[in-house]
Amino acid sequence: MNAPVKLRRAEPVSELTEAERAKILAKSARFNPPPHVLPDGRRDLVGLSREELKAEILAIGEAAFRVKQIWHWIYHQGATDFARMSSIARPLQQKLAEKFVIGRPIAATVQTSLDETRKFLFRFRDGQAAETVYIPDPAGDRGAVCISSQVGCTLSCRFCHTGTQTLVRNLGVAEIVGQFMAARDTYGEWPSPHGETPRLLSTIVLMGMGEPLYNYENVARAMHIIMDNEGIALSRRRITLSTSGVVPMMDRAGEELGVNLAVSLHAVRDDLRDELVPLNRKYPIAELLAACRRYPGATNARRITFEYVMLKGVNDSEADARELVRLIAGIPAKVNLIPFNPWPGSAFEPSSGNALHRFAKIVMDAGFASPIRTPRGQDILAACGQLKTETSLKKEKLS
Ligand code: SAH
Ligand code: SF4
Repeated sequence: MNAPVKLRRAEPVSELTEAERAKILAKSARFNPPPHVLPDGRRDLVGLSREELKAEILAIGEAAFRVKQIWHWIYHQGATDFARMSSIARPLQQKLAEKFVIGRPIAATVQTSLDETRKFLFRFRDGQAAETVYIPDPAGDRGAVCISSQVGCTLSCRFCHTGTQTLVRNLGVAEIVGQFMAARDTYGEWPSPHGETPRLLSTIVLMGMGEPLYNYENVARAMHIIMDNEGIALSRRRITLSTSGVVPMMDRAGEELGVNLAVSLHAVRDDLRDELVPLNRKYPIAELLAACRRYPGATNARRITFEYVMLKGVNDSEADARELVRLIAGIPAKVNLIPFNPWPGSAFEPSSGNALHRFAKIVMDAGFASPIRTPRGQDILAACGQLKTETSLKKEKLS
């Protein structure tokens, strides 16, 4: 892979207009889930913003101060039953239960790997399902929850199992927040009246199924709920959004959410990245890196993560490593080297250990941390890029 380096559009163009963002958002809205209303007419309160919750509470003739209480019970205490809301009198509890529910996705299957990684298949109200993975830290007292943002994906990255699945639909706010809350339920991790809240599920990575920036509205609203100080209260520093490079939405995510950014780079030349990550044809490397340079809040303390899946003989040469460090020079960044995780029918092989270490050393010598990610949960197909659920719709193009 010593071909001369060629980048299209040497200077990043700035046609990243509001119009382009509006187009992406409008297309994305076509894939939104059905509204969260049960057949009996009760509304799911999970996923509503505080303002929306207030509107529901006022609409049933109750006072606005109830919003704070109910919010606390749902998102701080993890209540799923109005009868547990001890600060609310019994008659109102009953009234709330007649009008509303506090929903959770159903864990259709839960598999635990030999390394304690746990994969959930969550089923939603319309029967669609998505996978969520809990990856405990080997230190034992914390871990990351890898959350899905869509059922399937419109993009077709060649090395990714999810990419072989059609986009069925976006996940809604309640379904995104619900994955985290339901995972927490299984670890009993809500505050107890006696003592400290455990914090096993201490970080969120939006690295499950789907492209979060092609479901921006729902993802953003879900993250605002998760970051709300009177609820789950996870700080934006504990949330990482991974994108294959939806450049116009990166700016917006940075401004509005300020979460950590991970970028799936995987190749240092446009011709190869066009093949591996077809979205590159739309937003080539120079534009992607320009968006990284603009990303608000990127500092040495809060670096951008470049993800680079190591594919034997494809993108793992020393020349690739040298070009990588040239490209990202000046960006506060680290490079996560991900050994390729095979899945049934995949066309690539993982790089050798030697290739991985040689690559890592070149990146590190250039001053970038270059951890090699240990695959987790491979025995249950829970590792990066292995998630997929059964669906049969045709692949729809959103990009
Ligand atoms: N759509 C987003 C987030 C989900 S993918 C994105 O592409 O960034 C999460 C990460 O897993 C990405 O970096 C992706 O490139 C990587 N990945 C996909 N398939 C993989 C595989 N088979 N082996 C290792 N990593 C993979
Ligand atoms: Fe979609 Fe990300 Fe997989 Fe690409 S790597 S197909 S963007 S989930």
